[in-house]
Amino acid sequence: MILLVDDDVMVRLLATEALVAAGFEVMEAADGEQALALFDNYAFSLVLLDVSLGGLDGFEVCRRIRENPRGGSVPVIMLTGMDDTDSIDSAYSLGATDFVTKPLNWTLLVYRVRYALRSSATLADLETSERRLAVAQRVARLGGWIWYVEEDRCERSPICLELWGDVSPSAQSVPFGLLSRVMSPERQHLREAMERAREGEPYQMSFRVQRSDGNAVTLYEQALPVRDEFGRVVRIEGVTQDVTEREQAERRMRFLAYHDSLTGLANRQMFREMLDHTIARSGRSGKRCALLYLDLDRLKRINDSFGHTLGDQILREVASRLTSSLRSADVIAREESAHEEVVARLGGDEFTVLLTELARPDDAARVAARICAELSRPLQVAHIELVVTASVGIAIFPDNGGDPETLLRHADMAMYAAKQRGRNTYEFFTEAMQLQAVERLSLEQDLARALESGQFELHYQPQVDAASGRIVSAEALLRWLHPERGMVSPVQFIPVAEETGLIGPLGEWVVLDACRHIAKWLADGVPAVPVAVNLSAHNFRSDSLLTSIAHALESTGIPPQYLHIELTESAIMQEPEEAKLTLEALKAMGLKLSIDDFGTGYSSLSTLKQYPIDLLKIDRSFVRDLPDDASSASIVEAILALARALDLGVVAEGVETAQQRDFLAGHDCGLMQGYLFSKPLPGPAFIELLYGQAPR
Ligand code: C2E
Ligand code: CA
Ligand code: CA
Repeated sequence: MILLVDDDVMVRLLATEALVAAGFEVMEAADGEQALALFDNYAFSLVLLDVSLGGLDGFEVCRRIRENPRGGSVPVIMLTGMDDTDSIDSAYSLGATDFVTKPLNWTLLVYRVRYALRSSATLADLETSERRLAVAQRVARLGGWIWYVEEDRCERSPICLELWGDVSPSAQSVPFGLLSRVMSPERQHLREAMERAREGEPYQMSFRVQRSDGNAVTLYEQALPVRDEFGRVVRIEGVTQDVTEREQAERRMRFLAYHDSLTGLANRQMFREMLDHTIARSGRSGKRCALLYLDLDRLKRINDSFGHTLGDQILREVASRLTSSLRSADVIAREESAHEEVVARLGGDEFTVLLTELARPDDAARVAARICAELSRPLQVAHIELVVTASVGIAIFPDNGGDPETLLRHADMAMYAAKQRGRNTYEFFTEAMQLQAVERLSLEQDLARALESGQFELHYQPQVDAASGRIVSAEALLRWLHPERGMVSPVQFIPVAEETGLIGPLGEWVVLDACRHIAKWLADGVPAVPVAVNLSAHNFRSDSLLTSIAHALESTGIPPQYLHIELTESAIMQEPEEAKLTLEALKAMGLKLSIDDFGTGYSSLSTLKQYPIDLLKIDRSFVRDLPDDASSASIVEAILALARALDLGVVAEGVETAQQRDFLAGHDCGLMQGYLFSKPLPGPAFIELLYGQAPR
């Protein structure tokens, strides 16, 4: 009968089901007290014991079972959390026979229970029947022997000899005769233990044996010296058991608990332990180590467009490139031979590398550069050639942090900075990043509440017809009125909103609010003009884009030609095919479409020709240096000429001086926008401008 102790009803239910199905009888206990009471009243052949119980914990229950006179030899299998390796060690030290990690794998559980019972049954049977003993011993691969010390002779049972493999008759009865089979360094340990046994000291140890059939096995041996009435050691009685299978299972379990199953790299748990260990050691030796934090650029998009199987293949390839780029010896100036690296996958597309005993911090940079270069080589998976790059952040111990958490956090911040700087690159952690991160976090938290607390507002910047000087349209620009910081620039908060996802509802709010304003102006008889709103790539790709715009138009009842949409080239080019459909749908709704920041992206005008675009907005950076800067002038001229050829309207952004205006007007630029005409204005101020020019 098996005693199952777990405070989780579900676990008890499922474990009992699995064990009963496998032919065992089970009795359940929900806590330690109940378990011990049952143990006193019934004879159990095995105990399955959860580590974390309310009241007495599993360790304590295990200890008390072992103290119980009947509990010395009952196998106790502990159920521990997967990541709880400390508890595995504690469990063993308290006399647990084995451990199984949670979540429980039922097949494995039954297998472990059988195994534990098989091994222990033989011990129980020792007292009962010789024949059963022999059978059981063979099953358990357990052999007995007696060493007669005075006669310097050893008697080994046939099973015992079997365990060692083919033993020559002359060696069979020689006490030290099998030592040569034992591998180093255990051979010496066993010899010493045997010598001490002769002096009366018992031993138990496991060692690896090279058998004559070529197989290596692990044997576990226990020896107990027996004295005569004068206290002299006359013989030593021992048992030897083949524990190879069990050891392999254990090793496998340990491997699973410590490795990432996809890539075979160390997992987060193992990495943490190595990091703790390395930091402790480096702290003592005064050596530096470096923590590299890697994040693959845009893996999510690859997953989204090609599926997870391909994503998994990429992760595996990345893992192998990572390990091989570290293995190449020339990268690091090694201080001594004792140099090791740990490569781990923390999960998702995040990897870490730990470099120990760093001679110079520069070495970390060399490794990071090598990793970036290795990873950015094109990669062939499933007949698709892809380029995957990584951004790497570096934190050095002890310079950038004295404990694992700080180092990890700082390496992560540095990684983030590398991403910001343009990906496929590395950055060392700096104090400034720390400040920035704190700042950003508070911005993020405030931003999360800003929309519902009504802290956003739209300002309007006129777009002026070059020929007549009249305001013919406006751009709606978002403003955040922060209760303490005052007006926060969209340059600061839009990227944060994009990353936190707030940009979704925020973008919808902008469209709706612009429509509401227009509706009010029309109702009030204001000589209203069309308003262009900016959409982020995220808004543009969102499934709800079309419905939310349609809803905004319907609910406010404004004619669609009053709404323009500004998009950047990159927002369109991220998914060119999808984009085309979306643009056509927007167009069909009656909206006008502009390409914002034109000239800064990578798309050619001829690609844009395929899209139903109405307007190009020449980026401010080209207008800024007009008319003196020759290259800006020629770019602007080229854009204007091409726009004319393709019959697209043009708006020049950021016009600040009369010279810029004159240059642009002289080259047939239809519309202009900039401080020369007006800054973006709150709604009422903007309406005043419109009234000011009222009679046409
Ligand atoms: P953008 O779309 O290129 O907007 C033009 C920016 O140039 C605005 O900055 C505007 O105030 C500024 N500007 C206008 N005339 C001049 C000038 O003569 N000289 C100079 N130096 N600057 C001028 P703002 O309002 O700070 O907006 C910055 C960016 O924030 C915008 O760039 C746009 O990308 C983003 N943004 C603003 N509102 C929204 C929004 O509602 N949604 C989204 N997704 N992004 C927005
Ligand atoms: Ca814009
Ligand atoms: Ca712009």
